[in-house]
Amino acid sequence: MKALVLEEKGRLSLRDFDIPGTLGPADVRIRTHTVGICGSDVHYYTHGKIGHFVVNDPMVLGHEASGTVIEVGAAVTHLAPGDRVCMEPGIPDPTSRAAKLGIYNVDPAVRFWATPPVHGCLTPEVIHPAAFTYKLPEAVSFAEGAMAEPFAIGMQAALRARIQPGDIAVVTGAGPIGMMVALAALAGGCAKVLVADLAQPKLDIIGAYDGIETVNIREKSAAQAVAEMTDGWGADVVFECSGAAPAVLGVPQLARPGGAVVLVGMPVDPVPVDIVGLQAKELRIETVFRYANVYDRAIALMASGKVDLKPLISASLPFEEAIAGFDRAVEARETDVKLQIVMPA
Ligand SMILES: [Zn+2]
Repeated sequence: MKALVLEEKGRLSLRDFDIPGTLGPADVRIRTHTVGICGSDVHYYTHGKIGHFVVNDPMVLGHEASGTVIEVGAAVTHLAPGDRVCMEPGIPDPTSRAAKLGIYNVDPAVRFWATPPVHGCLTPEVIHPAAFTYKLPEAVSFAEGAMAEPFAIGMQAALRARIQPGDIAVVTGAGPIGMMVALAALAGGCAKVLVADLAQPKLDIIGAYDGIETVNIREKSAAQAVAEMTDGWGADVVFECSGAAPAVLGVPQLARPGGAVVLVGMPVDPVPVDIVGLQAKELRIETVFRYANVYDRAIALMASGKVDLKPLISASLPFEEAIAGFDRAVEARETDVKLQIVMPA
């Protein structure tokens, strides 16, 4: 079976590559349909590593996937061949302490697609635990199903924030994750979400949604825009999604007294934090690492029509053009949000 293989830093190939594995009683076999290209896939391609995760051997990329069940293990009852599904890419040890606490995303033993040495899903077929495979309602397309993964991070951030109806939120950073967070915050009850970035094309894309306002920080500071929007009081929730040092440092200025700060963006290196600024408003700090127990909710929001992620799919490329798709992702065009790869039928 042909897969998209990261041979080493900077070198991709489409070639025969069989991922070892057998279908266990609690597993399903899935024919993959759509796979989104994620910033982490691109980072492994350009840098060969993320933090202490280093690509030492050829690795299949991709972790944002939807597809069709083609075979089920003997113990699987909630899925059947023919079901359209999307897959949660992180598989914890269900007996771990973290999993027992419901925080399986921080299980040290979690196996996550396309995180070395675990292979990803840019391959025609995958075997996956049925418990981490979710049926797509009729109303949710394969393309949207593959958006459940990045949207799940937005969902995790919205849940961490403990949004109350009518909250005003600000999102710093209009990358794909910042956009997902903004939409999840709206779905979670925010009255208004202000998105701050310096790339106008990105702001135009997310600003087209009802309930979202934008500020280009080349023209006006995020703090100024928040002050104008809230009569100087500050935002109830600040979602930091840029990972940029100045944005992290400026977070306390955006929040209202007693507000919440959710750290979503991941700075490449440690960055300074204004602790006194946080203390002076007694801000509550939350962090997000991937997600747990949000896939059902993410899919339900898409199916209900309350969250429409289709405008964020910038292009879908056939699998044969997957390498060109990755090179386009490396370009990081300001008009691209999510690029997806469609597998051969
Ligand atoms: Zn992703």
